[in-house]
Amino acid sequence: MDPLAPDDSADALLGFAAERALAYLHGVPTRRVAPAPEALAALSAFDHPLPAGPQPAAETLALLDRVGSPAALGTGNGRYFGFVTGGPQPATVASNWLTTAWGQNASLYAPAPMVATLERIALRWLLDLLGLPASAAGAFVTGSTVANLCALAAARHAVLRRVGWDVEADGLIGAPPITVVVGDEAHPTVLKSLGVIGLGRRRVVRVPVDGQGRLRAAALPRIDGPTIVVTQAGNVNTGAVDPVGDVVNATQGTGAWVHVDGAFGLWALASDTCRPLLAGVERADSWATDAHKWLNAPYDSGLAFVRDGDALRAAMSVSADYLPAASGDQRNPSDTTPELSRRARGVDVWVALRTLGRAGVADLVDRNCAHARRFARELAAAGAEVLNEVVLNQVLVAFGPPERTLAVIGRLQRDGVCWCGSTVWQGRTAMRISVCNAATTDDDVTLSLAAMRQAMAAA
Ligand SMILES: *Cc1c(COP(=O)(O)O)cnc(C)c1O
Repeated sequence: MDPLAPDDSADALLGFAAERALAYLHGVPTRRVAPAPEALAALSAFDHPLPAGPQPAAETLALLDRVGSPAALGTGNGRYFGFVTGGPQPATVASNWLTTAWGQNASLYAPAPMVATLERIALRWLLDLLGLPASAAGAFVTGSTVANLCALAAARHAVLRRVGWDVEADGLIGAPPITVVVGDEAHPTVLKSLGVIGLGRRRVVRVPVDGQGRLRAAALPRIDGPTIVVTQAGNVNTGAVDPVGDVVNATQGTGAWVHVDGAFGLWALASDTCRPLLAGVERADSWATDAHKWLNAPYDSGLAFVRDGDALRAAMSVSADYLPAASGDQRNPSDTTPELSRRARGVDVWVALRTLGRAGVADLVDRNCAHARRFARELAAAGAEVLNEVVLNQVLVAFGPPERTLAVIGRLQRDGVCWCGSTVWQGRTAMRISVCNAATTDDDVTLSLAAMRQAMAAA
């Protein structure tokens, strides 16, 4: 018999959800990381015709749990090393539930003073933690794709304002051209964001990169006219960080805007050990990062920071007689985001930062980086080839020719002890180990290494 809420009251439904969520979370460390093929096949149970009328909510939730939970990828498992995304920390899952129960619309201060206040404080803490300008503006958005978009829209405003063009009012048709410079290893979502804001995916100037994927500052084009340079802190394959300080030096006095895509890498600024790797990042004009990556906050949670807050607000704010402006130290969240109505995702960020504290974030980063180095060391000793300099939490491993590497990854994913994805790095097929899960322990690394050696032996 499936567990079932006793009735459709809020008490019964919310109690049931909490109980089943806990059962799921308790099961995650011991079950296989990837869902079994049978669990995925069973998803067909969701797919019946739209009910003609209401169905009991208790039954609906029971179905959701019975069919959905086994088919979820165990992202909260300490042996999940996929895509550079961790799992949510328990305190932030709990705050997420509470926030949903509050049902606040984090658009404006007036309808949601409590969550607007929490977001204002979380922003101040973030800038402090990362060593970014205290006066920077910030946006709580869905992810780094949109965080990059916000920052690039602010950049577009600022570089055109300098030549007397109001892009929000008059658009890009007939505007002075903007040169957009990106490293050849820019994340594909940066190009997507550039496409969305009318700057074009293809018309970018690509700067060659080195063997780790770092933009070569010496190869920057001569800057002339309105220009945006997009750099990266944390390559999704190697973890490498662009020489942002050199880029800032090279563009100084030209009016160019320097942006940093730091979707996961920006969090390394919180660690004394890692900070030197990111030297100069703090001198940029704008930054994007993800709380749902290394901070292990629930989806969806991206962050944009912009030194010139007026540029961000010019790009994003709206006004209408029925929408009250913020006054004093109040902050209208929607002045800096593409959305008006949205969930109060900044609450989870506030909770993540308060529960971890400065030392907790630093420890999370340092622990994950140490685990990445251990993977590299022990896999090299076992005869695998580590393709990158392990500077942060990313390890790229090849097990001989592409077919063998893919066979090892396939076997590992099927075995279910741990989960790693694949990539092609500068022509080499490789396994990606992204260590960015707060749950990962030394034992998880030991177990995963044993599974990897076994998969190597069998391939
Ligand atoms: C993950 C990532 C992105 C995209 O972030 P989303 O949160 O998935 O939108 C952009 N840039 C880099 C470097 C990333 O690692």
